[in-house]
Formats: sequence, C-alpha cells, structure tokens
Amino acid sequence: MSECLFCKIGGKEVPAKIVYEDGDIFAFEDIHPQAPTHILVCPRKHLASLTEASAEDAALLGRMLLAAARLATERKLTDGYRTVFNNGRGAGQSVFHLHLHLLGGRAFRWPPG
Ligand code: 5GP
Ligand code: ZN
Repeated sequence: MSECLFCKIGGKEVPAKIVYEDGDIFAFEDIHPQAPTHILVCPRKHLASLTEASAEDAALLGRMLLAAARLATERKLTDGYRTVFNNGRGAGQSVFHLHLHLLGGRAFRWPPG
C-alpha cells in the first residue's frame, strides 16, 4: 500500500520514533500522545482494520498484543495500561492501517468516551 501512512512509517519513508520492530511488526510513538506513554503497534502487512483480519492473521494479532505487553513491562506501567483497537470511523479510527494503541502512565476511566 504505497499511499498508506503507517506502511510508510514501517518502511522508514516517513519518520517516526520507532520503539520496536521485527520482521512482522513495528511500534512507534504516537505523534499526538493521549497519555505519557502512547505507542502504536502495527503489523507490516497492510490490513485496514481488525475487520479485515482473518484466521491466517491470528499469530500476527497475538504478536501485536504480546509486543504491547512487553513494551508496557519495559516502561514499568505497573499501575495498569490500556490496549485499544479503534475499529471504524464511528469508533474513532482515523488511520486505516491496523494498529493497537498502548496507553499508560495515567489513570483511565471506564467506560471510555
Ligand atoms: P486511530 O485514530 O486511527 O485509532 O489512531 C491513529 C493514531 O495515529 C492517532 O492517535 C494519531 O495521533 C496517530 N498519528 C496520525 N498520524 C501520525 C503520524 O504521522 N505519525 C505518528 N507517529 N502518529 C500519527
Ligand atoms: Zn498500510
């Protein structure tokens, strides 16, 4: 997907503060952080959203979640953290390359807005 912002970040065509990467996933600091820690974890494979994922992506989705947990541990988010997939415009999704938000370093309310 040559016109996708997050594909370009993964390919280093657009700069971002990348905090983790391997052959399948990459993670970077959100440009407009909503918490002291706000990281986006993405698959290198272009999937527009969770809805486009299928059974063949199960391991990839698991790796994204485990990467988020590892980053939370590294950043000592011992009071708790939140992992969020915004799925679709009505849920606040604005970039249509699958990404998992990792938010931490402050208190969170429930239900979310
Ligand atoms: P969504 O609203 O789709 O769930 O999340 C998209 C996120 O991407 C937002 O939190 C937004 O701040 C972040 N974002 C949008 N453009 C850029 C960018 O160019 N660089 C970085 N690092 N984050 C971005
Ligand atoms: Zn993409």
